[in-house]
Amino acid sequence: MKICVIGTGYVGLVSGACFAEIGHHVTCMDIHEDKIAKLRAGQMPIYEPGLEALVARNQDAGRLIFTTQIQDAIDADVSIFFICVGTPASALDGGANLDYVFAAVGDIARHAAIQRQSRPEQILFVTKSTVPVGTNSEIEQIVGRYIPSSGFAISSNPEFLREGAAIKDFMNPDRIVIGSSSPQARRTLEDIYRPIAEAGAAVHLVSSVQTAELVKYVANAFLATKISFINEVARLAEEAGADIDEVVAGVGADARIGRDFLTPGPGYGGSCFPKDTQALVKTAIEYNSPLTIVEAVIAANHRHKLMMVSKIRKAIGGRLEGKRIAVLGLAFKANTDDMRDSPALVIVPGLVRLGAQVVGYDPIAGENAQLLMPDIRLEANVFEAAKDADAVVILTEWPEFHGLDLNRLMENSRGRTVIDLRNVVSKQSVESFTGAYFGLGKTHGQ
Ligand code: NAD
Repeated sequence: MKICVIGTGYVGLVSGACFAEIGHHVTCMDIHEDKIAKLRAGQMPIYEPGLEALVARNQDAGRLIFTTQIQDAIDADVSIFFICVGTPASALDGGANLDYVFAAVGDIARHAAIQRQSRPEQILFVTKSTVPVGTNSEIEQIVGRYIPSSGFAISSNPEFLREGAAIKDFMNPDRIVIGSSSPQARRTLEDIYRPIAEAGAAVHLVSSVQTAELVKYVANAFLATKISFINEVARLAEEAGADIDEVVAGVGADARIGRDFLTPGPGYGGSCFPKDTQALVKTAIEYNSPLTIVEAVIAANHRHKLMMVSKIRKAIGGRLEGKRIAVLGLAFKANTDDMRDSPALVIVPGLVRLGAQVVGYDPIAGENAQLLMPDIRLEANVFEAAKDADAVVILTEWPEFHGLDLNRLMENSRGRTVIDLRNVVSKQSVESFTGAYFGLGKTHGQ
């Protein structure tokens, strides 16, 4: 089938490349000219494992092309448009900023309307961007200004991929959610996804776009709740002399609870959980049906990040003035270059405000981190970062940190304190370490 994907960010580029991989002919469109120029030249504008090879293979096969012009998709007889543009938090009220979505659908509708005289087939608008309940009704109104209602259909098909595992998640999803009041639109989307569904994913058809829109927000808010819950429990475990890993093992053995997403860390971040929880809270207030638990999760997450600064200060003796802290990992999680709402953006400035000098290292996100925190010095590897440091803080669970030999890491450091906010250092390395190791949710000084 012929498909156009609007927006070539983390979701659009991965979706476009994966749709091409399962045999569709995909036009990826973005207004960002540099991105498209890079993609045409075979360079990836983002870091995502496996993406470069996937894009190259499908470009070579002639199934994946990149453009800055909607008209190119219209000229190629495309009538299915996946909207994958950003929906960042609005600076005004924390709700989702839908400007990019509305601009994109207006643009498509305008171009498609001109073409309609010669090609009367229905245009299908598929919203993959995360948008608040009710947005697709607004999309319908915008498109309706250009195309009569018989000439188009609207559907919601939220995306659940995770950065760092995006291709695997797209190709082997737990579910594919499709919401539309148009049976024809639902059938078209089922056809598009058939190769993925046949490989094992359940297609979850929901009758309304509103239901599909809500599924996405509820999923993210629930995951954010799990993270914040276990982060608070980790802090309690630490104070009470318990071990969070053993607590989670004991609790998670209950099949009703499970262990997934109960790993403590420095706070959730990234391009989705922070903005989606905020947007859901705003939607709930608008519908006069407040979600007080989600409101508490947002507050708990913010507080947790600040508590991590206090934890670091306490671990190195109560004063940060003049101390050199090496922060290992700046991205919001491993295997991504994404710095959006990374906990590092609160914790690092928090340390600096208390007088510390921070040096950072991240295997992939360093450049993006430097743009947002121009004052921190970046080092080329963990050993350079730890050199002359009073303490090392592990903020991201990059695989290369799991195997760290702490004695070797701290060989040329000034102090011998390691604060592991992801609990990734191996037990063996911790036990043989001659300095002070502080995990999260572990008894102090272990
Ligand atoms: P992104 O910022 O990486 O990419 C968005 C892209 O859209 C940019 O390249 C931008 O140039 C382009 N764009 C903006 N306006 C445009 C227009 N009018 N026409 C064409 N292109 C336009 O965003 P993302 O992380 O890919 O997220 C996209 C959506 O998917 C968001 O709603 C997000 O909440 C949702 N989502 C993201 C993830 C994730 O892990 N990143 C996962 C699931 C869902």
